[in-house]
Amino acid sequence: MIEENYRKVEAKVKEAAIRAGRNPEEVTLIAVSKTKPLSDIEALMKIGVEEFGENKPQELRDKYENVSRPVHFHQIGHLQTNKVKYIIDKAVLIHSVDTMHLAEQIQKEAEKRDMVAKVLIEVNAGEEDTKFGVTVEETEDLVRQISVLPNVKICGLMTIAPFVDDPEENRPIFRQMHQLLLDIKSQKIDNVDMNVLSMGMTNDYEVAIEEGATMVRVGTAIFGARDYSI
Ligand SMILES: *Cc1c(COP(=O)(O)O)cnc(C)c1O
Repeated sequence: MIEENYRKVEAKVKEAAIRAGRNPEEVTLIAVSKTKPLSDIEALMKIGVEEFGENKPQELRDKYENVSRPVHFHQIGHLQTNKVKYIIDKAVLIHSVDTMHLAEQIQKEAEKRDMVAKVLIEVNAGEEDTKFGVTVEETEDLVRQISVLPNVKICGLMTIAPFVDDPEENRPIFRQMHQLLLDIKSQKIDNVDMNVLSMGMTNDYEVAIEEGATMVRVGTAIFGARDYSI
């Protein structure tokens, strides 16, 4: 079931890329396994899936330590500074950096382990009060500040678009994010890459891909609805 769901989403990812005249290989599908048991992750690993997304640092750590072979876990949810230590050497990419304070903590923990942590800057492109992330206007400044940290490598941008009935409503946001990525990329800031654009979830990943997403984070369409009561 989960395997079939994954295959369906994977096919739609490919079709959306082709529709947009893009190479489907530019788009990475991240299976968002938050709240789901390890057995669901293992089922997908059997068909070759390597990229998983988790929201909570402790959950990422526990799953990382218990999977039967190494796979990639992405820290996609909000990260508190006191929890950086749980995932610093386990997350392949931290998608949710939105303050200098958090970046400095990542720097500290990465330096301790003599590693470079890869991060994305989270942008609140929809400007919703309930969301984390910097505004579009603040993004370049934050990128410049973080770029001086030697053990933190900015790889691109991430956004969580508003929940909408019609994914077309989010198209302008995705387009704006892509433009922002290109604008910052053109600045050629030292120690900054702008190659990753993480955007699009179950409801809107196809539109996000049409507008330039290189990573989509899909949970519900693969694993089914989440139960937060357990
Ligand atoms: C839960 C979550 C997702 C996946 O959401 P779905 O709508 O289930 O696909 C993607 N990104 C982030 C940051 C999330 O927290």
